[in-house]
Amino acid sequence: MMRIAVANQKGGVGKTTTTINVGTALAASGWKVLVVDLDPQGNASTGLGVDRADRTLSSYDLLVGSASVAEAAIATRVPRLDLVASTVDLSGAEIELVDLERRAHRLDMALSEAPPGRWDVVIIDCPPSLGLLTINAMSAAESLLVPLQCEFFALEGLSQLLQTIERVRARFNPELQILGVALTMYDKRNRLSEQVAQDVRACLGKLVFDTIIPRNVRLSEAPSHGVPALIYDHRCSGSEAYIGLSRELMGRLPRRGQVAA
Ligand code: ADP
Ligand code: MG
Repeated sequence: MMRIAVANQKGGVGKTTTTINVGTALAASGWKVLVVDLDPQGNASTGLGVDRADRTLSSYDLLVGSASVAEAAIATRVPRLDLVASTVDLSGAEIELVDLERRAHRLDMALSEAPPGRWDVVIIDCPPSLGLLTINAMSAAESLLVPLQCEFFALEGLSQLLQTIERVRARFNPELQILGVALTMYDKRNRLSEQVAQDVRACLGKLVFDTIIPRNVRLSEAPSHGVPALIYDHRCSGSEAYIGLSRELMGRLPRRGQVAA
């Protein structure tokens, strides 16, 4: 079971949109996908159509050890895509975790108990911070997907993110790799978007995926309907871009067969 964390401590850069739509694209290509919503705001849970009333067990239970991942995972209306939802308890988790044993490894421990063969890939949607929740995601993951918004300050904060990755590698998870950086919310009518995309490529080189996610209103409308954009309108430019990004991403992952073996 591969584990990917979608992380960037900035809010509003497209982490949740990327989690949901990459998850859906992987599920559509036959993979069994688990999305773990690790953001107290619960946008991934809402965007996947799981109402608050239906969120009983959550990622909080995984962290504190009060439920197993098999118990907390719920089916969504996307075939082959399950969710561990987020509940408001999660907003206190960063403080509660401090007193627990192996506080940075709680999610890792929970995911290690997943029934063999139940999921091919876990995608963890991180909150907009570099606190203990994101550290848990990075300690549990083997790879990171980093969305960067095509705006003036895109690269600002990246050095802080890279420092955190180094710290996690040194202390908790030497295997952690950056799978890639995805440029999001690209506006082709805005020359700044193009400039930022060029700058980011100049700075990060091959880490940056070729596929760019455009600014597309369908991507922002879909969550209010409780379905991924890929289902809401699979032909919009945003959905097409996420299909392209997912193909690229699959190419960078170890082969599923090899991993499952
Ligand atoms: P994060 O999880 O990093 O905070 P989100 O994925 O929630 O970011 O995106 C922030 C907001 O922007 C949401 O309202 C989302 O629907 C919208 N959004 C995300 N990606 C796009 C895009 N490519 N085009 C238009 N709107 C987008
Ligand atoms: Mg989010």
